[in-house]
Parts: sequence; structure tokens; C-alpha cells
Amino acid sequence: MSDNHKLETLALHAGWRADPNTGSVAVPIHQTTSYQFDSADHAASLFALAELGNIYTRLQNPTTDVLEQRVSALEGGAAALAVSSGQTASAMAIQNIARAGDNIVSSTNLYGGTWNLFANTMKDMGIEVRFVDPSNPADFEAAIDDKTRAFYAETLPNPKLEVFPIKQVADIGRAHGIPLIMDNTAAPTLCRPLEHGAAVVVYSATKYIGGHGTSIGGLIVDGGNFDWEAAGARQPALNTPDPSYHGAVWSEAAKPLGPIAYVLKARTTLLRDMGGAMSPFNAFMFLQGMETLPLRMRAHCENAEKVASFLAGHDKVEKIIYPSHMDGDARARADAAMTNGYGALMGFELAGGAEAGKKFINNLQLLYHVANIGDARSLAIHPASTTHSQLSVEDQAASGVTPGYVRLSIGIEHSDDIIADLAQAMEAV
Ligand code: PLP
Repeated sequence: MSDNHKLETLALHAGWRADPNTGSVAVPIHQTTSYQFDSADHAASLFALAELGNIYTRLQNPTTDVLEQRVSALEGGAAALAVSSGQTASAMAIQNIARAGDNIVSSTNLYGGTWNLFANTMKDMGIEVRFVDPSNPADFEAAIDDKTRAFYAETLPNPKLEVFPIKQVADIGRAHGIPLIMDNTAAPTLCRPLEHGAAVVVYSATKYIGGHGTSIGGLIVDGGNFDWEAAGARQPALNTPDPSYHGAVWSEAAKPLGPIAYVLKARTTLLRDMGGAMSPFNAFMFLQGMETLPLRMRAHCENAEKVASFLAGHDKVEKIIYPSHMDGDARARADAAMTNGYGALMGFELAGGAEAGKKFINNLQLLYHVANIGDARSLAIHPASTTHSQLSVEDQAASGVTPGYVRLSIGIEHSDDIIADLAQAMEAV
């Protein structure tokens, strides 16, 4: 598939053109654990990574392979790896290059699950995560020492919804041999972080990439745009012999296969050792979602703009949190990174505080009340009484949650129906 095709075309075609044996146009579900080798030499060559091919479904699968090629094409990357969840993608993206005793520098604005992973589980594993405020990119540089292996951030983190300064932080990292890993879960097709200098993109495919809300999965895209070899001692995981694979030096071993050292190592060591593979059935489900991803994202964004305008003009709404309604640095960063729309996550603050927030949620009829984002259906939650209820009021405020804050994930229903439901729920407040 030509790299020059537009996103809408890649979403339907990248990585697949009719099954050579059956003519099947849809990508088949290869629900198999293992694969017959052509010969003993063929098997040996696959295990030696002299050629890439199917060995065992924990490592690779033909259905999953199409999904991997497709997401890589959509991101403008070199190769990708599908895994069992977004959490696995984030964890593996870091474990691939940071070992016990190493550290990474992460934005403070993170999904709560990732925050827990970084602040507690990674710490237990001996990997220190240094959190810095993304509003000042220079803080990333200040937090580096000789054990820093990666920078990590989310493109459009909720609840603040302030777009991350991808280029500024990626440039700082590159000057030190440090790759920027971007979680682009909230902005597929709207932002392509690799174009702004990120080296790796991770996704919870569970959200917009699926869209149907039926399947949990994660993706890691290797940009192929980071010179691991030049990073030398800064990146020992890719530049020193790996005893778990006959002493392979991944930045060397990958050369005949393309600029895929990072993702090749993730597949051949972490996926092999820790499992965490995506099931072929879920890969099929994500391919169904991905076919309409650019179309859906456009519809999500159009609806979100209309809902944001409605809320901004409502007398019970004190503040609307949505990139196109921001100004100053936050707006400039959104405009720099979100080249195809501002996304469909939004927050608003009700003048009546926590009680008003709960009443509003209780009165919704069309919108689902769930702790999820990125479904084709519109979703709402009151973070102060749910996702952020364990935090003190001060910590809630620091994370961008006020008592009257309501989070919306705007779906692709007709905008009139979404707005009508919000308007009637507002009457109860
Ligand atoms: N990253 C972001 C931004 C998320 O919103 C989520 C889930 O809500 C995850 C990662 C984790 O994804 P999963 O639930 O697929 O493990």
C-alpha cells in the first residue's frame, strides 16, 4: 500500500489485499495457535530472525499482523505490535528500554490507570518515574540524569484536555538520545505524534480505534525515526548484547529488517516472556473499527464542536473545557498538534457544584453513565464523585477536577439528540 494514500484509504486497505488462497476480501480470523514450517531450514531461519514469519500466536498472527500494518500506516510508522490492552502497551513501551535502576520522565497529566502503573507498579519494579508539569517543556530536560531512558505523555489528556507540547519535548529528548513515547488514545487520525518528533506511539485500541466498545486491546507503533544506535550508552537495552536472544544487539540485529529495532525487541523478548498478546478475534474486531476510524473521528469532532458551543452559551455552565474554547499557550499547542480536529472529550463546570453534577448525571437519558471514553455512543461521568473520589479536594483541583466538573465523551449520534439530552438533564440542576 502506497504511503501516499490518505488516512481514509489506508484505514480500509493498508496491510491487506484479498486472501491469495481464497479470494476473501475481509481479513479472515486466523484462530490458530501455531503454524506449520515449510522445512527444518525454514523453522531455523524464523527463530534466528533471518526472516520474519509466523511461529506461534503469542508472538505473531496473520490477522493481528494486518492490524499492526494498518495502524503503522495510519501513524506513518515503521512497524507496530498489538497487545492485550492499552495498559499492556504503556507498560511494555517502557519496559522495552528501561530496566531496574533506570528512570523515565513523564507528564503529570495522565489517565489514572497509567498514573498508578507509573507511581506504584513501575516503582516496585525498580523503574523510577519522574513526573513533571507539561506546561513547561524545559522541566523535562531538568529532570534528566544519565539513567533516563524515555519521556512519556498523552496527546490529549483528560480532564484538563490541554494538548501536550509534542514537538518541544521530542526535540529536547532527541538532543539527549531520549525517545518521546506518546499515548495517542484520545486523538487517532487527529494528531500523528511521529510527525511532531515522537519516536513511539501507544494506544488503548479499546477506545476510538474499536469504537464499538466490544474489545480491549493495545497497540505500540515504532516510528522508525529514532537513531537508537547513535544514542549509544544512553540506550543500553538496544545497544548491548541481550543474553535472552543469543547476545543479539537489537540496533544491529534489526538492520536487515528495517528501522524496527525497538518493536522487534518488544515482540521477541517482552511478548515472548510476559505474554500479553492480542487475541486474533479482537484483532479482527479492531480492524472492523479501524475501517471507519477517520470517518468517525470527523463526526465525533463535528458533534463535539456543536456541543461545546451549546454548553458555552448555557447559563448553568460556569466554564467549558474543550481545546477550541481555550486561548494562549493551550490553544497554540492544540492548533500545532491536532491538525484534523480537537477531539471529542470535553469537560464543563456546573455552577451548582457537586450536587448539581450528580443531579445532572442522574437525569441523562441518552448519554451513558460510564467510566469510559471513545465509544461511538455519547458518555458522561461526574469525576468528583467517581473516578477522582479517592483524591482530596486539593488533589482533585490539581488534576483539573472541580466539584461541579462533568466529563463528556461525545459520540456520533445526531448532534441535535445529544444536545437535547444535555438540555433536559440541565433542567434538573
Ligand atoms: N490510555 C488512556 C489515555 C486511556 O484512557 C486508557 C483507558 O481508559 C488506557 C490508556 C488504558 O487502556 P485499556 O483500558 O485498554 O487497558
